[in-house]
Amino acid sequence: MEYCTNQPVAVYLKFYYTGNMPIVKCKICKKDFYAKPNWLRRGLGKYCSLSCSQEGRRKGRHVKCHICGKITYKTPKALKGSKSKKYFCGKSCQTIWRNSIIFVGKNHSNWKSGEFTYKNVLTKSSTPKVCMLCKENDKRILVAHHIDKNRRNNRLKNLIWLCFNCHFLVHQYRREEDRLKFNLKKARSGAAIVQLEGHRVVVPRNWVQFPMVAPLRGLNINKSRSSYDLYSLYSPKFAKQT
Ligand SMILES: [Zn+2]
Ligand SMILES: [Zn+2]
Ligand SMILES: [Zn+2]
Ligand SMILES: [Zn+2]
Repeated sequence: MEYCTNQPVAVYLKFYYTGNMPIVKCKICKKDFYAKPNWLRRGLGKYCSLSCSQEGRRKGRHVKCHICGKITYKTPKALKGSKSKKYFCGKSCQTIWRNSIIFVGKNHSNWKSGEFTYKNVLTKSSTPKVCMLCKENDKRILVAHHIDKNRRNNRLKNLIWLCFNCHFLVHQYRREEDRLKFNLKKARSGAAIVQLEGHRVVVPRNWVQFPMVAPLRGLNINKSRSSYDLYSLYSPKFAKQT
């Protein structure tokens, strides 16, 4: 009898190995492998390879990095030891988190009274970095100005950006300060302020297009004019000075 292939050899090998070394499924990768009977007797032969065995002995958990979202393995000790219960892929991500939330502001050891934080307050806000008066946007010459001139009042409402030049003028000249306050009132209310019958009147922006407003005392409110022009035009006191 002849065989076309070496099938009988394979049959023999299968018989031999199954007889002495049972086939076991790996606990990690689910691959079949031969285990020695004495391994099974001693409670071994659970994993197909060294890498699977190392994987099987891990007791921790895979977690997402709080900052970058990378999946990382944490040991039970690390999981238990975390105070914030936030996990990170490495020291760099942990430092980013720590320096933005934990050791910042009043929690920082160098925190004094918060008296000198006004520039920070403005920088962190969404206020555009331009001078309120001359629209200069060079960051090197911008300073934070206190509208009520009280350096301890560091609320965002009390702070604006001014360039060195305008800042000097505002602190030295009453007229510039008035101009600034007028600009601010207009910018914050979203309205135009005009002089009407000797009184300053706040006109909502949508009123300006309304035809009934213009015939009153013949005011031509030109939207393209700067607020300063409007002010000097309709305020006789300042019109004289210019
Ligand atoms: Zn395996
Ligand atoms: Zn990360
Ligand atoms: Zn300026
Ligand atoms: Zn100032």
